[in-house]
Amino acid sequence: MIDSYIGAAAKIFSTRFSEFLVFKLAISQHDFGPYIDAIMDTYHKEVTWNAALRRLRNGNTRYHRNTTEDKPNEENRRATLVAGQHPFAIILTCTDSRVVPEFIFDAGIGELFVVRVAGNVANSSSIASIEFAVVQFGVRLIVVMGHESCGAVEAAFNGSDLGDNLNDLLAYIKPAVGQATHADVDAVSRINCRNSAQVLVRESDYVREAVDTGDVRIVPAFYNLGSGVVDFDDRV
Ligand SMILES: [Zn+2]
Repeated sequence: MIDSYIGAAAKIFSTRFSEFLVFKLAISQHDFGPYIDAIMDTYHKEVTWNAALRRLRNGNTRYHRNTTEDKPNEENRRATLVAGQHPFAIILTCTDSRVVPEFIFDAGIGELFVVRVAGNVANSSSIASIEFAVVQFGVRLIVVMGHESCGAVEAAFNGSDLGDNLNDLLAYIKPAVGQATHADVDAVSRINCRNSAQVLVRESDYVREAVDTGDVRIVPAFYNLGSGVVDFDDRV
């Protein structure tokens, strides 16, 4: 019986050898409850955001290869979603009409919690929306996605005066302009995504706590308009 537990654990934790050893030690001491809880908690958290990221990657591959899935059951799906939603990822992205996350990730209704604001900045409104999804729906993955030829980033890059409201918004992007090592709007856009991710962690107690405990992972990303490919910056 114990051998079968060890076998199952070895299969699950084959890439996490140190945790497997802890698990095996716990079994030999016949006091494995707390260890199992701790290991499964860690495993569950990583699998959850990893699985969500893999799902986005796969959806984007289908999109840019023009092999998107038919969604014949949308009528049934609408009916099931009346009672509640369980999105698997939060996407903070730009308002640009060429950037449509549900298309880009080949996702159906109810799958993505999309927050859109010009230049995909982390301001009080977008942060509050993201907090809502993290706290209310337990979403484990946040993607901050900028894109090629972003008009908002270009305006910040050019130092345009677009009136009080837009100037306020562009102020969130301007730090990235200063950080770029060469004059390239797309390079600024990629930096701006990383900055938005950092602001999100800094300004949101809920998000910071979830990131610190490993419950939530934030991944900056960049959408290439021409190819349809999303570059994920998982290093951050
Ligand atoms: Zn844009």
